[in-house]
Amino acid sequence: MLKRFEPVAYVPSAFCVTPEALQKKGIRAVMTDLDNTLIEWNRAHATDEVIDWIRSLQRANIDVLVMSNNNEERVRTFCEPLGLPYIARANKPLKGAFVEGMRRLGVTRDEVVMIGDQLMTDVLGANRAGVPVVLVLPVVQSDAKATKFNRFVESKIMNTLQKRGLRVQEGELWNN
Ligand SMILES: [Mg+2]
Repeated sequence: MLKRFEPVAYVPSAFCVTPEALQKKGIRAVMTDLDNTLIEWNRAHATDEVIDWIRSLQRANIDVLVMSNNNEERVRTFCEPLGLPYIARANKPLKGAFVEGMRRLGVTRDEVVMIGDQLMTDVLGANRAGVPVVLVLPVVQSDAKATKFNRFVESKIMNTLQKRGLRVQEGELWNN
């Protein structure tokens, strides 16, 4: 049960997921959550830092797809200026969007990584779909109302995971 909430890595931010680290693992594509993973849930557009990170991945031939439970307008507003493919209303933690994302990216489970800030949606969904998932600290501590209940449940699960040794890592993305 708890295994389904375990990320392959837990890092301070998405920017720790570097092209170099991904290439070492043979990863060709990134699926990423939007709200509180790339930008604050109440910010509309990418920051310069987010744009630089996305471009650095793309220069390394690593494709990026945004997968969010938020609505079409929110996700399109962020993705369209960047020319990024996306899946809105993804219904994470159901695995459908993960399967669809891999199909659109033309990759297998071994060639993709999911990045997200929530155990209940990003981590659980990716694990259900057999996709390795990197958990990041949320960009800001506040959340949209719909997320608050998830955060409460998450804090309980997180306590247990931390007792079992889960820690935010600096530096290397994966230990193994
Ligand atoms: Mg999020």
